[in-house]
Amino acid sequence: MPRYIGRFAPTPSGPLHFGSLIAALASWLDARSVNGCWYLRIEDVDTPRSSQQAIDTIRRQLEAFGLYYDGPIMYQHTRHEAYRQALERLRSQGMAYPCSCTRRELSGYQRYPGWCRQSPRQPDRDLAWRLRTDIGASEIVWEDRRLGRQCWPLDHAGDVILRRRDGIWAYQLAVVVDDADQQITDIVRGMDLLDNTPWQRHLQLALGMTAPRYLHLPLIVAANGQKLSKQNLAPALPVEGDAPRLLLHRALTALGQQPAEELADYPVAQQLAWAATHWSTERLGCTDQWVDPGFS
Ligand code: GLU
Repeated sequence: MPRYIGRFAPTPSGPLHFGSLIAALASWLDARSVNGCWYLRIEDVDTPRSSQQAIDTIRRQLEAFGLYYDGPIMYQHTRHEAYRQALERLRSQGMAYPCSCTRRELSGYQRYPGWCRQSPRQPDRDLAWRLRTDIGASEIVWEDRRLGRQCWPLDHAGDVILRRRDGIWAYQLAVVVDDADQQITDIVRGMDLLDNTPWQRHLQLALGMTAPRYLHLPLIVAANGQKLSKQNLAPALPVEGDAPRLLLHRALTALGQQPAEELADYPVAQQLAWAATHWSTERLGCTDQWVDPGFS
């Protein structure tokens, strides 16, 4: 069993963009620099938001950038039974409860006010399932490999959804169950997910799972301060011609790895080989954001 198992876990609601390249590349380098495994997990649990076309595109994009993954791809849409068992366990521990509240009823609340904690207020409706955050440790503490000690009070986070009223499994539950089943040792991902980590650690503790190590990367923002995301239509990563090797070089630069300028002339495989040999997490720095002047 390798000492290091990493993963890239995109939601296939659209193609990868430069921000996703940064997350995939950092996670890949972190794994490959220690001869670790690196898996691809397609987080298509939210079926209405996912598409086969996006999955095909993501696979083509990873290939064009030389980011090869190990073993078979894990698809969350095949994992209902594992999620069901985890929810059952939480329920039997009194850590999960059914909730009838609708989005409309909750509008204006920053976090779930706990109305259904004792029993659902409208038991005849379709019910969601929520995680109790008032049981167990009141603070979640972990050591982020880049940001250092993290200490987050759980009651700020609130009772997050584990399964939606329409039966769709929530990201928080799915990601924790899958990371544990794939024996992921290291999670390298963007800072946009930092505030999700307390729920995930809380779930891991409740389910008796080993904690992976975490490294949250700065977010890439455009010169106007906007985060690159599918929502604001960051351009899809190109797969043809010189574009992948030029963008890969730019991503290595954004990651603070200081690649020589000439490296941009080399094919992606050679750039990656150089970067894996020279990978340094210290060079990632400790800021929250990286501004990429190439985007405006
Ligand atoms: N599927 C999540 C996303 O695309 C990432 C999950 C993770 O890395 O934990 O934002």
